Amino acid sequence: MSEDERFVSGRPKRSDRESIALRPQRLRDMVGQDLVRENLSIIIDAAAARGESIDHVLFYGPPGLGKTSLAYVIANEVNTNIRVTAGPAIERAGDLAAILTHLKKGDILFIDEVHRLGKAIEEILYPAMEDFVLDIVIGKGPAAKTLRLNLPRFTVIGATTRLALLASPLRDRFGARFRLDFYDPAAIEQIVLRAARLLDVEIVGEAAVEIARRARGTPRVGLRLLRRVRDYAEARADGVITLKVTQDALALLEIDHLGLDDVDRRILSTIIEKFGGGPVGLDTIGAAISEESATIMDVYEPYLIQLGFIDRTPRGRACTEHAYHHLGIDFPEDPSAGQQRLL
Ligand code: ADP
Repeated sequence: MSEDERFVSGRPKRSDRESIALRPQRLRDMVGQDLVRENLSIIIDAAAARGESIDHVLFYGPPGLGKTSLAYVIANEVNTNIRVTAGPAIERAGDLAAILTHLKKGDILFIDEVHRLGKAIEEILYPAMEDFVLDIVIGKGPAAKTLRLNLPRFTVIGATTRLALLASPLRDRFGARFRLDFYDPAAIEQIVLRAARLLDVEIVGEAAVEIARRARGTPRVGLRLLRRVRDYAEARADGVITLKVTQDALALLEIDHLGLDDVDRRILSTIIEKFGGGPVGLDTIGAAISEESATIMDVYEPYLIQLGFIDRTPRGRACTEHAYHHLGIDFPEDPSAGQQRLL
């Protein structure tokens, strides 16, 4: 199954257009992430009081937790333009130069997947972020000259799922860094109820709780489940999302009570059945289930670790006793085998 098709993936899909309309506009529309919101509102208020643009901000954490939404929210809060791009989209130095020279004072430049910027591009970004200058090299060889252009003061908002892959000079240029964590079910429940209101769908409280429980702490997944359950309610019931409709719809999608889908279960059962519970390298798991190891690491694994089903060890990934229980497989009695597994 490709990442785009995978149902519980946190990554955006084409069908997510509707949830873009559901995107929170202001900080007060954002549910959860209280500390991040509080800190951001301080940064925004302080910059406004000084009449300056805000410091560069970096958001990091698994996909679907609100990094892009926060960038838009900040732009709304400070009432400025936002220019949106992504690391892989900026291929040549000229691409970045074109973007930078079109920015106006106070504008926000949102760079998604900022860890995927090329080295040469990063080199241009450093002085732009630090001193608001753009060095352009004209000509080649001994006749080459550097031309320095002043840029207006602007704000870079970066988002990444992989903080560790960000070059440390780049990381250091973000004055504010925020880690987004999985949401608790109560917050997802609020997000689902708000979306149902905006979509004009009738939903009972218990159904929202059930969707939230299976949304793996990820707003994007919660919203996607809501839409699938709404389809089911319209096609197989009278349009109202009840608890029974929710349970039936999610059972049909093979999403279990913890929000794990078929691929999550294959990851766990592969580690247990093919590799004796682990430890086993990520690439080996990826090859065994035909998924890219980067995707396993970004999308699938964080939630399995959070549930305490997978341990990350120096020698690879290992399944814990909880994972065995979840799959209904007996945990091996032999303590030495268990010991090895968790080393
Ligand atoms: P990321 O950039 O981290 O992948 P997004 O910002 O695209 O995540 O969020 C995914 C979806 O989840 C968006 O459509 C947005 O509407 C919703 N969302 C995310 N965080 C929140 C939140 N805190 N409150 C309400 N909706 C949210």
